[in-house]
Amino acid sequence: MQTIDKFNFKGKKAIVRVDFNVPLDKKTFEVTDDTRIRGALPTIKKILKDGGSAILMSHLGRPDGVPQDKYSLKHVLSALQKLLGTSVKFADDCAGESARTLAAELKAGEVLLLENLRFYLEEEGKPKLPETVTDEEKKTAKDALKKKQKEFTAKLASYADCYVNDAFGTAHRAHASTALVADLFSDENKMFGFLIVAELDAMDKVLKAAKKPFTAIMGGAKVSDKILVIENLLPRIDNLIIGGGMTYTFIKAQGGKIGNSLCEVDKLDLALSLLEKAKANNVMVYLPVDAVNADKFDAEAATGKTRIDQTPDGWMGLDIGDETIKIFSDVIKNSKTILWNGPMGVFEMPKFAAGTTAIARAIADATEKGAFSLIGGGDSVAAINKNKLADKVSYVSTGGGAMLEYIEGKELPGIKAIRK
Ligand code: AMP
Repeated sequence: MQTIDKFNFKGKKAIVRVDFNVPLDKKTFEVTDDTRIRGALPTIKKILKDGGSAILMSHLGRPDGVPQDKYSLKHVLSALQKLLGTSVKFADDCAGESARTLAAELKAGEVLLLENLRFYLEEEGKPKLPETVTDEEKKTAKDALKKKQKEFTAKLASYADCYVNDAFGTAHRAHASTALVADLFSDENKMFGFLIVAELDAMDKVLKAAKKPFTAIMGGAKVSDKILVIENLLPRIDNLIIGGGMTYTFIKAQGGKIGNSLCEVDKLDLALSLLEKAKANNVMVYLPVDAVNADKFDAEAATGKTRIDQTPDGWMGLDIGDETIKIFSDVIKNSKTILWNGPMGVFEMPKFAAGTTAIARAIADATEKGAFSLIGGGDSVAAINKNKLADKVSYVSTGGGAMLEYIEGKELPGIKAIRK
């Protein structure tokens, strides 16, 4: 397999799938979090330093095949230029004449950014159809789009001599730019960028070479989203900490009173069976013992504290309580490998952010003492950034969904396309 550190880009045009799906200010369209742009810089800089040129392609939001100004990648140009320290050309259509001409004229040391790939349905290969269509019509539309997708993919490939995939956030999607385009380059001319290499290294450290004790911290809204991850982790971990809204499905399954707290009533048996499986794997499970409750789901709600299984009628648990924070923090501080996905409470509201903040701090402390910590999933990353702890943990993943699927043990199409 080709690797970016060994490849010499001199005189070559590289088409790079980056993940510039960044949050924008709703009014000014300025980039509000440039983490993903910064993530792509080492790859772009290496291409330029070698004497090559870079053609960057990405999606932004979900325009579903309809070009719209609010989803234009032109909004990231100024942030990109500032971070890169060089001017960047822009093609206002990723598969039109402007892209073809600008790519053809691109000189060594230059960078070109293509307009949003998802302005074409061909990128995802998923036709947009009204609900009323028959299965037959669906199939015909899908087949027609697949044909057009091939042409679209060939166009992207035609701009460059080599392909670099550095978009970890979309590596779990088999889209034109993330997977299909790789087939149009020979093995020597396709590779992962530095960001994907770092992501894979961090995940493999956790999955294949974890130092013990290994603690997984799972939070967020729903158990159903995390079942496969938890199941794949059980044979590897020593401790499983559960927090956030998903707690209450476990508490209810064990007969606790949960008031109006979040609960997936159809997952009660599953929650109990996960606990059984944990026991069978000698994994210590830590569920919250106390909670901060609210009388409504609102930043200004009245609050009260109770045991986790004594939520009063009409109230809901929105954060873990002080005793839980202490228990969880002690486990985390004694761990050598830590994986965190999902907040401990509704951290977006200050009244319910203390649990998530405390856990983020405990992870930073453990890391300082030598643990390896991997944080992934949009909300836990946001919590780490909010507390300015990003450089105090070992690795912050840029791809929540992709990270979860990799940890579930799935083969990601974007990874397979280059590894095969
Ligand atoms: P997820 O996308 O599954 O990781 O869930 C993240 C979301 O879960 C965040 O928006 C949190 O506000 C929310 N969340 C965390 N704890 C709770 C809770 N106890 N009740 C309701 N929502 C929660």
